[in-house]
Parts: sequence; C-alpha cells; structure tokens
Amino acid sequence: MRHAHIIGAGLAGLSTALALTDAGWGVTLYEAGPAAGGRCRSYFDRELGLTIDNGNHLLLSGNRAAFAYIAAIDAAAKFGGPTSALFPFVEIPTDERWAVRPNRGVIPWWILLPRMRVPGTQLVDYLALRGLVSRGGDTTVAAALRHGRLYRRLIEPLAIAALNTPPERALARLLGAVVRETLMQGGGACVPRFPREGLAPALIDPAVATLAARGASIHFSRRVAAMHIAGGRVVGLQTTGETVALGMDEAVVLAVPPWVATMLLPGLTAPDEFESILNIHFRLEADPGEAGFVGVVGGTAEWVFVKEGHVSVTISAANRMVDDPAETIAAAVWPDVCAALQVTGDMPPFRVVKERRATFAATALQEARRPSAHTALANLVLAGDWTATGLPATIEGAIRSGNRAAEILSHNAGQVVTPVAHGG
Ligand SMILES: Cc1cc2nc3c(=O)[nH]c(=O)nc-3n(C[C@H](O)[C@H](O)[C@H](O)COP(=O)(O)OP(=O)(O)OC[C@H]3O[C@@H](n4cnc5c(N)ncnc54)[C@H](O)[C@@H]3O)c2cc1C
Repeated sequence: MRHAHIIGAGLAGLSTALALTDAGWGVTLYEAGPAAGGRCRSYFDRELGLTIDNGNHLLLSGNRAAFAYIAAIDAAAKFGGPTSALFPFVEIPTDERWAVRPNRGVIPWWILLPRMRVPGTQLVDYLALRGLVSRGGDTTVAAALRHGRLYRRLIEPLAIAALNTPPERALARLLGAVVRETLMQGGGACVPRFPREGLAPALIDPAVATLAARGASIHFSRRVAAMHIAGGRVVGLQTTGETVALGMDEAVVLAVPPWVATMLLPGLTAPDEFESILNIHFRLEADPGEAGFVGVVGGTAEWVFVKEGHVSVTISAANRMVDDPAETIAAAVWPDVCAALQVTGDMPPFRVVKERRATFAATALQEARRPSAHTALANLVLAGDWTATGLPATIEGAIRSGNRAAEILSHNAGQVVTPVAHGG
C-alpha cells in the first residue's frame, strides 16, 4: 500500500482522497481551517441566526465528475431543483419574465419555437452559439458573439456566472468548454441542482465521513507551512506543531489555492489575478415561496436564490464593488430582490459575504499560467480548480483535478485506479 499526504481539504483535496482511498491508499489530510470545504462551505451566522453558505453554488446535471463524487459520498438526496432544465429570468427595467427550457435530447428543437426562446430572439442568434464551442485562441466572450438580446438576456448572465470574469476579458474557449459539456448535450445535461440545506451537508460533511470510515486521518487547523525538498522529491512537511518525515513510498498532493501553492513551491507559475464574488443573505420571516432561483437581468443582483429562512443574492465578477460598504451593497440589491420575488417591505437583517479571491480571473493571461498536475518533483502532484483542467474555476473543475492527481499517483505506483469521475 502507498500513502499520500494531501494538503488542503477543499473539493480538490477531498476528491483526491476519495479516489486514492478507493484504490487502497492510506491518506493523511492537512487542512489549515477549522473545517473542510475551502471556498465551498457553510457556517452559522449569529446575527442572522441561520446557517448560511459562503456563496450560492449551482451544479448542472452535465457535471459528470461532480455527480460521481456526490454518488461516492452517498449525498444525492441532499440536492434539489427542478426535474428538467429550467432557468427563470426577470428583467428589472421592463419587469418582463421568461423561462429558458431546453428540451431533453441532443437535438435542440426548442430553439425552433418562438414561444420556447428567450423573448425577442431569433433562430439565427442560437445558431451563432456553435461558433463559441469551436473558438480557439484568445478571443473573449464579448468579442465572440453578437450583442443582441440573446447575448444580454442569456449568454452574458451565464458567462459571468460560469467564468466569474467580465465578458470583455473572459476567455471564450473556457465558456465553450462549459457549453460543450452542458447546453450542447441537450436539456438533460442542463438540469440545475443545488444543495437543499447547504453546501457542507451536501458536498463536504459526507465526504469527510466517508474518508474517516475508510481510515483516512484528517487534521483540521493544521496548516502546512513548508515542504522540505531533497533529491528531487518532497522528504518532509512542516505543519503547525510538528515536522512529518516522508518515506520513499509516500507522496504529496498540493491541493491549496494558487497563492499558497506558489509560496510552498517556489518557482511554480500559477494564476495571480482573481475576481471576487459577493453574496448577500437576507433573513426573511415571510415565506418567499418554493426553494429555487431566478436570474436577474439589468439589475445589481444577478441571481436570487430562495432558501430556508432566507433569500440569497449572488453578484459575480464583483471586483468593481467589493470594497463598497456592506450596507451600500445590500441597499442596492434589496429592490432587485423585491422585484424578482414580487415581495415588498423594508430591508430585513442581512449579511454580505465578500469572497475577494473567489476564483482566478478567466482571462487569456491567467489561463496561460495554469500549471499541469505534474511537477518536477517525483512524489508531488498539484490539484485545484486553478490547475490546467480545461474548465473555468468550478466544482466540476476542482473535482476533476483531484481525480487527475489520484490517477497520476496511482499510475506512478504502477496501479490502475478508477477515479470517482468514471464511477457514477
Ligand atoms: C462565492 C462562490 C460561489 C461559487 N459558485 C460556484 C457555482 O455556483 N458553481 C461551481 O461549480 N463553482 C462555484 N464556485 C467555485 C468553487 O467553489 C471552487 O471552484 C471550488 O470550491 C475550489 O475547490 P479547491 O479545492 O480547488 O480550492 P479551495 O476550496 O480553495 O480549497 C483549498 C483548501 O486548502 C486549504 N489550505 C490553504 N492553505 C493551506 C495550508 N498551508 N495548509 C493546509 N491547508 C491549506 C484551504 O483552507 C482550503 O480548504 C464558487 C466559489 C465561490 C467562492
């Protein structure tokens, strides 16, 4: 049996650990924070008296690796959402409402029917999307597409959500990769899924429990401060309180954010420009209706999620407003919530969560800085949504990177491993 020391218990580290333990490896996880989850976490907010997520996370049914991970931790029942592809939208200036409902199969007959399309759009607008999928080079999303109603009412909101970067700077081919695996596969790959109770109970806690049951040893509040390198391999880890010496059959997976990875591994090139995401959580006493979400066009809010006891708003690519005071941000967003959900009333208690380095900026320059999982050191591999996955920084990308790290280690050890991405 081989042993891996995994630094970082976000989704990349957890998925590496699941794939390796499944293949019979021993695993030790070191997490700097008091809990696992990293950028995908839940916590109790005393002021709101509620457990909230750091930010709303949406998966699409076409996220194969993510749903294989969810199956592996037995958490499918923790997810809710519509039973078919359904994206409701409201345009704030006009109060116009519509829903995008791609049909299930691969042939997109829904775009032939005006009543199924985004209001005011033509068939030709949809056909132009094919170009996005085949875009190479450094073309941006904004330059790749005509700026008609389809762009403003569907593509721009989806691009900002998927890439967390203004479309004028965001790389078209990264959006193309998402579209290829979802929209181009038909509505069956576009069913939105979100955690019923929160991120931790749906994606994190069951993974930690599964790993513990498989004998993994998991250390919280254990930051790795340095890696000791000699003879072309990692020979030791300096953690809070102890030095861990590594034997010849022990490997290391660096599954930390890029700004930590470059500190622990000098000389590593990694993304160094980031975009913020704001989440504004409003406590709601009144029942705002069924859990779900609505896309907002032409407002400050971008997506409004209705949750247990609260309503939660996402604003992506938010560097432009991340330094504004929380009160200013909440006051700008509350009228959009009222319009989107057709509710009235004074602004209720709120919490603004500012994730300043939510993801790397999905620009051509940053894409060129994403490293492969392999390193020059014999027993060290990288994982994380910022490594060269071919996808933007997403749950799917993070989990695939973890599977890839496990595959590389197992291959090096002469083993065949079935990563969780292929299991479900
Ligand atoms: C607000 C927000 C909304 C998002 N919405 C979506 C969405 O709707 N859909 C989607 O697919 N994706 C979304 N994402 C992206 C998704 O959350 C990330 O891609 C994913 O969580 C990244 O996982 P990771 O393991 O690569 O990194 P991280 O989650 O950053 O994990 C790295 C871990 O390493 C730990 N660590 C750091 N330094 C050390 C050290 N020295 N020693 C030990 N441990 C250390 C950290 O504490 C952390 O737990 C969103 C992200 C944010 C922030």
